[in-house]
Amino acid sequence: MSTVSALLRSDLRDFGGYRSARSDKLDGDVWLNANESPWANSGTPEADLRRYPSPQPQQLRDALARLYGAMPEQLLVGRGSDEAIDLLLRAFCMPGQDRIVIAPPVFGMYAVCARLHGTAVIEVPLIDSAAGLNADLDAMVDAVIAHDARLLFLCSPGNPSGEALSPAAIERVTERLRGRAIVVVDEAYAEFSEQPSVVPLLDAHDNLAVLRTLSKAHALAAARIGCVIGSSEMIEALRRCQAPYPIPQPCVDVACAAVSVSALAATSERVRELCAERAWVAQALAELPGVRRVYASQGNFLLVRFDDAEAVFKRLLQAGVVVRDMRSQPQLGDALRITIGSPQQNRRMLDALASAKVEAA
Ligand code: PMP
Repeated sequence: MSTVSALLRSDLRDFGGYRSARSDKLDGDVWLNANESPWANSGTPEADLRRYPSPQPQQLRDALARLYGAMPEQLLVGRGSDEAIDLLLRAFCMPGQDRIVIAPPVFGMYAVCARLHGTAVIEVPLIDSAAGLNADLDAMVDAVIAHDARLLFLCSPGNPSGEALSPAAIERVTERLRGRAIVVVDEAYAEFSEQPSVVPLLDAHDNLAVLRTLSKAHALAAARIGCVIGSSEMIEALRRCQAPYPIPQPCVDVACAAVSVSALAATSERVRELCAERAWVAQALAELPGVRRVYASQGNFLLVRFDDAEAVFKRLLQAGVVVRDMRSQPQLGDALRITIGSPQQNRRMLDALASAKVEAA
């Protein structure tokens, strides 16, 4: 039995999901099967949106599969990777009964989706050392086994740790949990990382799920396009838990344009520029007085500890620069997370920090 069939919620095994008017492959030229309007809206002359969109738009699915090196049937498109996290919980965790394992401080949606779904969260904290803020993978595997958890979330590169895990390390985890748990690797920031994606591991591991998004490197956060890549059996199971028409047609259209050959070339160039800028900003921050530590980052952000993070946060706000206050997160009582912006934006942020120090002196 595959890991997916073994771990699927037992009460959903014979669940077919909603059958929409688009589920049946019917053909014709007079469409009277979905209670849509026969007219386009007169206020939107540019866009005729009278018809429900395809549940899984083929052109976008094909393009994303090509981009990430998977087969189209191994990929489910959704409303950001946020939706993918929710779907994984819905499909594999019985409300009020099952558990997931995470390594805080980490992206908050794993715990939020779990809470909303009545799923307990087992925490295996990141370890802070001279090497960085690192996941303790052996302890995470042990926690999955000890608590019989269904899902293990690995964020690589980590938000906010900036740590990228090697495919070899992830493969070891996945092997140890074969038949026991799904290893979810969130690659939201993979484009900014030197570590390769773990998508190629999918062929040998049916308990792996990979999350990707167009929100970060592809500059499309407002379109809400993300995906989960896994075995075709897993993808079918997740699809049954998803809304009938998850992706609005205008978002499908912009996403297809955003992954065209020419747009992808421009995106790669931007990512290269951003990574160069990240190195420069990290260095400039490290040299400022009042900065305790700048963590190495494989994402489009830097995690920074300050002597007085609250004063820095307020000072940046006064200068119109908004960064993420991490102080309520475990182990991060003195930290802010700073997204790498354009060279001008980064300069403004650094100038605001430098002038704060001059005033304080
Ligand atoms: N994963 C991580 C690690 C993130 O930081 C984010 C957004 N901040 C997401 C997933 C969600 O991205 P989206 O829903 O926009 O695809």
